Amino acid sequence: MTIDENGNLVEYKNCDSCTLCCKILKIDSLQKPPYEWCKHCTPGTGCNNYQDRPDDCKNFACFWLYRRELDTEWKPARSKVVLYWHRDGFLIADFDPAHKHLIRQPTYERLFKNLCGMLEPECRCITIHCGKAMYVYASSKFFELGNTRYSHQVEFNFSPFLRDIVDVRLVPISPSSP
Ligand code: SF4
Ligand code: SF4
Repeated sequence: MTIDENGNLVEYKNCDSCTLCCKILKIDSLQKPPYEWCKHCTPGTGCNNYQDRPDDCKNFACFWLYRRELDTEWKPARSKVVLYWHRDGFLIADFDPAHKHLIRQPTYERLFKNLCGMLEPECRCITIHCGKAMYVYASSKFFELGNTRYSHQVEFNFSPFLRDIVDVRLVPISPSSP
């Protein structure tokens, strides 16, 4: 069973044997770097430390889990991408670097377009991460931002009335940023 973003029970989806977030995410409390399997994970099976897993793990639910619009094709174990909210309020699509080639496939472009349609106008874009690489999908186009993920943050220029993101710009992350 899973809980959606509004606290409602969504019973028809669950993680089962997915485990992809246990590879993709950085988990500070476990000193686990991104894109490496957690030492407690049996990939494709589950967590060997489930009862004592940290709050970071207990509190995480990927976007796929609680959106009815995303069918089994987009389950992370199958699609190789974990979708989640960033603290700045934008949706992240975090790809397994072993499958980086998927990012520009037409099926994934359709996914990004559909995801944008589910979002509020002021955050209608997808920030795509894959290792150090970063892209933005917005207003039906890709912005390729190179290996800037850990050195820069993205700022957006909107058209009037937040109809479209017309441009993105990279701003260096200050060493003192959290
Ligand atoms: S990526 Fe999503 S579906 Fe997969 S294990 Fe993590 S929370 Fe569950
Ligand atoms: S502690 Fe368990 S749930 Fe958390 S990342 Fe490791 S394997 Fe996954």
